[in-house]
Amino acid sequence: MDITLKDKVAIVTGGTRGIGFAIVKKFVEAQAKVVIWGSRMETAEAALVKLREAFPDCDAMAMAPSLTDQKQVREAMEEVVRKYGRIDILANNAGISQSIPLENYTDEDLDRIIDLNIKAVFVCSKAAAAHMKEAGEGCIINTSSVVSFYGQGLGCMYPASKSAVNGLTRSLSRELGPHGIRVNAVAPGVTRTDMVAALPESMVAPLLERIPLARMGEAEDIAKAALFLASDMASYITGAVIPVDGGAIL
Ligand code: NAD
Repeated sequence: MDITLKDKVAIVTGGTRGIGFAIVKKFVEAQAKVVIWGSRMETAEAALVKLREAFPDCDAMAMAPSLTDQKQVREAMEEVVRKYGRIDILANNAGISQSIPLENYTDEDLDRIIDLNIKAVFVCSKAAAAHMKEAGEGCIINTSSVVSFYGQGLGCMYPASKSAVNGLTRSLSRELGPHGIRVNAVAPGVTRTDMVAALPESMVAPLLERIPLARMGEAEDIAKAALFLASDMASYITGAVIPVDGGAIL
């Protein structure tokens, strides 16, 4: 049986590139209607153009609400519901990483990572859950990271923020489960995207040596796990944080 998301409506935050865009493509392949949320309308529109080149018949739209603004996110979701009638899947994927030494952290560095990696997940989940509760079903998939389990040598707020994502995943799975809403997370290992390209080689090389599957992850590897979690194949899975990391032993 093929995995299908036929007639489902999905919002993917940070859906413009990297893991987010791979999730968008996987969901479209599975016949979902997909809403790409980007940090800017230009990049969201550009991703939509790219998506339509690959999937000319896809039903998709682009938006760029500020993910930490409860009003903007609520209104954007209302627009999605006006267009598509429902929100079945929310992929909270937008995130930034950091490799800043402890002593160099500024207030702005702290605010940036807390805002996008934690607050945005909360704000988007809250707004989506309101629609999903009404429907009596839904699914939220958060993008965590394997460093949420192990920590990392620099940029301590990145693993800390992803541990918070795991906490939100587990807690919301308990709070929303009785409403038919499943909440899970994928925890990617080192995955080939712009985020990893921006990291110092000295940080990435030692990680690659500790991956039993002996290669870096591809965005599509993570997207496959997200598709599984979004689909009925995962109908009895909630509160899980699933490593997708080639077996990395960090
Ligand atoms: P990426 O930098 O290629 O993509 C990040 C996405 O987040 C982009 O779509 C970007 O537009 C969006 N984004 C950034 N700032 C934003 C903002 N202020 N508002 C809205 N959107 C914003 O990185 P990626 O590797 O694809 O990362 C996607 C997710 O995967 C992140 O949550 C990241 O922490 C996580 N992750 C990545 C790796 C990896 O090795 N690449 C490993 C573990 C977890």
